Amino acid sequence: VEQYLRNIKEKAELNAFLEVFEEEALAQADAVDKKLASGTAGKLAGMVIGIKDVLAYEGHSLQASSQILNGFKSLYTAPAVQRMLAEDAIIIGRQNCDEFAMGASNENSSFGNVLNADDHARVPGGSSGGSAVAVQADLCLASIGSDTGGSVRQPASFCGVIGLKPTYSRISRYGLIAYASSFDQIGTITRSVEDAALLLEVMAGADGMDSTASQREVPAYSQLLQADDKKYKIGYIRDCFEREGLDTEVKDAILGVKDMLRDAGHEVEAVDFPYLDFMVPTYYILTTAEASSNLGRYDGVKYGFRSENVTDLTSLYKKTRAEGFGQEVQRRIMLGTFVLSADYYDAYYTKAQKVRRLIKEKTDELLQQYDFLILPTAPTTAFKIGENTANPLAMYLADIFTVQASLAGVPAISIPVGRDANGLSIGLQLMTRSFEEPQLLAFSNYIL
Ligand code: GLN
Repeated sequence: VEQYLRNIKEKAELNAFLEVFEEEALAQADAVDKKLASGTAGKLAGMVIGIKDVLAYEGHSLQASSQILNGFKSLYTAPAVQRMLAEDAIIIGRQNCDEFAMGASNENSSFGNVLNADDHARVPGGSSGGSAVAVQADLCLASIGSDTGGSVRQPASFCGVIGLKPTYSRISRYGLIAYASSFDQIGTITRSVEDAALLLEVMAGADGMDSTASQREVPAYSQLLQADDKKYKIGYIRDCFEREGLDTEVKDAILGVKDMLRDAGHEVEAVDFPYLDFMVPTYYILTTAEASSNLGRYDGVKYGFRSENVTDLTSLYKKTRAEGFGQEVQRRIMLGTFVLSADYYDAYYTKAQKVRRLIKEKTDELLQQYDFLILPTAPTTAFKIGENTANPLAMYLADIFTVQASLAGVPAISIPVGRDANGLSIGLQLMTRSFEEPQLLAFSNYIL
């Protein structure tokens, strides 16, 4: 803990942590030391974890990197965090992210940019940018983030670490600030597959406070990492590799892994997925709709910030929301309100739900034929700070490869498989069938 605290101070310019729980983490470490000495320590003893500023931890500030939650403190601890604490994890602090997890570069935080530790002029990815950089720069052993459309996988790819988004419903979302509830999932950012497996094993499982959390038994993921000699069937979506905007170095690195797997005796085939162009629009229609509803609760009455210059209830709502929410969050609330409005509901929201169903069915069908689908995590490596801020659409298109798993609810992981000429990390993404995390983790371990 002392070492990590020193690193956090030395690398403060990265802006990865919004708050460091120094005293508390040291006290937790002492307690864990005692348990280790008496042989009663839990599974995560010694693991120093950072949590994205969207996870409730009782008595600690929680803001989703937004000013609208300024001053708000969690009244309870999210079960995902509680279960880690119960296994003697040490929580070292809360991490910077895009406001309400909306973004792909961490440039939408009201606490400023996070810098990529490999090149300070570049973004760390987002929205879990602080969480990825914290692992990249050795500010903690592992981070817990959230992934709605790529927010764990894409920053992991940009920072050369491992990002796992489990099956939708595998981990309780209670105590996770909602962005788009039918997509949101807690995920891990780690240096090793073993750590991802262990954290998932501890956090996953049924929870009485989240009726959507799966009741399925939780496998001992960390004991199932040995790659057997099994030869897998692997599909790669042809269309993904013919996209304009796909960086050639990224393309070559992913195709290189594909060839390596074929040489190792796996069956690797090109597959067609006809809905690639509809993925980003469907994702943004549905997530903005859900966000506009979820964020309705921040009204200046119940949580955190309240504007001072108000005259009546309506101006309280309007001024609080205008001053408290950043530009991107306001844009998404308006988009979502539009697609849910009476005149446009069927044309956008209902239509997008139908397209989501098609995407899910086609993805599930492919995953019945193939054990894994492989594709790049992102079309490029980490881009320059400011490069995409003027054009929100360009930024949204950068999510093209990550939203499929989110629309379909299937598990996906990003693992580092190389670097480009600038020394920036390239991530390979693997998807598999729902609840097949054991083979997803074991196979990732095998590739690495
Ligand atoms: N970049 C995507 C978005 O802005 C993903 C964010 C996320 O997964 N939270 O919606």
